Amino acid sequence: SPTQGEAYLARLNPEQRAAIETTDGPLLVLAGAGTGKTRVLTTRFAHILLTERAKPWQILAVTFTNKAAREMRERVSTLLGNPAEGLWLGTFHALCARMLRRHAETIGLTSSFTILDTDDQLRLLKQVMEPWRLDTKRWPAPGLLGVIQRWKDRGLTPARITPAEDTDFANGHARAIYDAYQQRLKQLNACDFGDLMLHVTEILRTHPDILAQYHRLFRYILVDEYQDTNTVQYLWLRLLAKQPDGSANICCVGDDDQSIYSWRGAEVENILRFEKDFPGAQVVRLERNYRSTRHILGAAAGLIAHNGERLGKTLRSGREDSEGEKVRVVGVWDSDAEARSVCERAESLRRQGHSLAEMAILVRAGFQTRAFEERLVQTGLPYRIVGGIRFYERAEIRDTLAYLRVLNQPADDLAFERIVNTPKRGVGPAALQKLHASARGQNQPLTAAARTLTENGTLKGKLGEQIGTLLNTLDATRDILARDGHVVATEYLLEESGYLEMWRQDRSPEAPGRLENLKELVRALADFPTLGEFLEHVALVMEQDENAQEARLSIMTLHGAKGLEFDIVFLPGWEEGVFPSQRTLDEGGLKGLEEERRLAYVGITRARKLALIYHAGSRRIYANWQPSMPSRFLDELPEEHITRKNEGGTRQPGLRTTESLFAAGPLNATPGLSSSRRPSTPRPAATAPTFALGQQVRHPRFGEGTVIAVDRHHVEVAFEAAGTKRLLSSFIEKL
Ligand code: ATP
Ligand code: MG
Repeated sequence: SPTQGEAYLARLNPEQRAAIETTDGPLLVLAGAGTGKTRVLTTRFAHILLTERAKPWQILAVTFTNKAAREMRERVSTLLGNPAEGLWLGTFHALCARMLRRHAETIGLTSSFTILDTDDQLRLLKQVMEPWRLDTKRWPAPGLLGVIQRWKDRGLTPARITPAEDTDFANGHARAIYDAYQQRLKQLNACDFGDLMLHVTEILRTHPDILAQYHRLFRYILVDEYQDTNTVQYLWLRLLAKQPDGSANICCVGDDDQSIYSWRGAEVENILRFEKDFPGAQVVRLERNYRSTRHILGAAAGLIAHNGERLGKTLRSGREDSEGEKVRVVGVWDSDAEARSVCERAESLRRQGHSLAEMAILVRAGFQTRAFEERLVQTGLPYRIVGGIRFYERAEIRDTLAYLRVLNQPADDLAFERIVNTPKRGVGPAALQKLHASARGQNQPLTAAARTLTENGTLKGKLGEQIGTLLNTLDATRDILARDGHVVATEYLLEESGYLEMWRQDRSPEAPGRLENLKELVRALADFPTLGEFLEHVALVMEQDENAQEARLSIMTLHGAKGLEFDIVFLPGWEEGVFPSQRTLDEGGLKGLEEERRLAYVGITRARKLALIYHAGSRRIYANWQPSMPSRFLDELPEEHITRKNEGGTRQPGLRTTESLFAAGPLNATPGLSSSRRPSTPRPAATAPTFALGQQVRHPRFGEGTVIAVDRHHVEVAFEAAGTKRLLSSFIEKL
């Protein structure tokens, strides 16, 4: 109704309104962080419904994370005043999984296909690679999997790879192995994550009737975080959006400064292609940031200004009310002190009345979370790891999921392999080989082969008996599943298979926790109507269970934090080799570094009220302490928007400390080279010599090279053998 209409549109600025009211035709909203892009998309969704331009299921809305999908669903429900159901709203992968279940037969799968995780993919690929007898040191399976994934990201099925797109990887056999891998997946009635997009796009490309069906269905398409779409996602969108008459009601929102997934094949160029592919596209720019205080914006803007390739946008604070607090840069002695300091700060902010739910620790890499977790557990601050690294990744959970997968789909060989000897049933490599040979010979799944070989006596004695028991247990569980449902069936299976007993007998300190986790898993199962739906949920979400009751501090990666916002954001580990990452430094290119900088920009702009950045003077990597130096990004933050503070007692802040620590070993110290003791008292830094561009220099570790860039404390050197490195000037010698 018009009354409702006025209410929801009144809370928007004129540019946002324009983006919402331009419902028909292609539209691109290009705007900086916190300018209300997602809000525009959500309101547009509601606007289309309230003006009766489409039914809820006729809108296709793509979000980047499951969390974002949930939030959008909630926002739409609130705007509409009733729960939104039956929506085509989710991540690219979730939407494609749903489409693929409908059309699986067209590419030789059944609708109950399994989605494999990375572990299973690797195991499968290793098996598939065997006949080629490659030198696996030179051509490791994970590398090949990467090649295959990039092909999939680009929408290339084996048949679509032209000689020009082929690679030298695996002695030029990569394409053939890819082909074999895809065939094997089909035999297993399985697909990997990349296949969800690839298969659906291929179906839409080759089945005009199916495509026409979706053209009739989807009247409007909405896409969030458009800067991070990869080629296959782009193809999928374009196929679905372009109606036979050439029209397209597609609205994409994005920010080139937040493009952080190029490592997964994302192409910022898709933003530039938009106007070309959708002629007559309108472009709307939003310039008012409603999220962050002026200092937070100023710090973020100053940082991102160091990137060369930008489309260029203006960002003004929409919250004229508050300057807010300056961004705090805190130097600490080491990574333990960092965890302590962050947790103490979170605790004291909580005492001042800030909810933990409004705080987040955003890390560059997964390994950083452990120190915080330990500390948070000690201090009793409730927290959650967002992004799935924890719960479903645990061994006992993965084992159980494998049991459930075999239950759900007896042809799931990878899952069967995982459980056949867990707990130990005496199935060694020889027995496994026999199983494989028989399965291949008879063109059967492993479970069927196991049955044959136990029944005909090939697998004899205790081994045969134990496998027979396992198979009988699985059969019995299937009966229970049909009769009593998946929760009872799961409990039965875990008990009768001996799996629970295995952990009860286990004397390790982790065992009780594992049993707790298994209980929790059964609890989670009860939230789903069927086993199949639960397994699909796990495969897609892999996200930490959320106890909504209690306010918790969130820990997540910067990548996972995209699109989210918190009052207070902790950004630890701003050190060379952590952030920017060591890999980026090793690769040495500008592109990688600019992507890291965009990631830093994403991090700072998550904060509404306060951002705290930490850097430690040394860091424990596995068992060793390694000296570290402050991230170059810290030098790039405009001084007027930050405060710098050192919490290292008598120690000197920043560069001086680490510079002298650095003297103990080279910047890229390997664990073997570094000392496992804590660094001793720092010595004063030597005065750094000055360098000119083009100067020939020598470094004790990297050898000889040429200076290609110079700034306050660093020089960038192109070494003859070691590539381009950015180093402290005091460690380079003029030639
Ligand atoms: P990001 O680039 O980080 O994804 P975004 O552009 O999607 O950011 P939103 O998350 O939609 O931005 O909005 C940022 C915050 O500003 C949200 O809390 C949102 O509710 C608020 N906001 C957006 N538009 C307005 C407005 N016109 N008036 C007041 N608040 C607004
Ligand atoms: Mg957003």
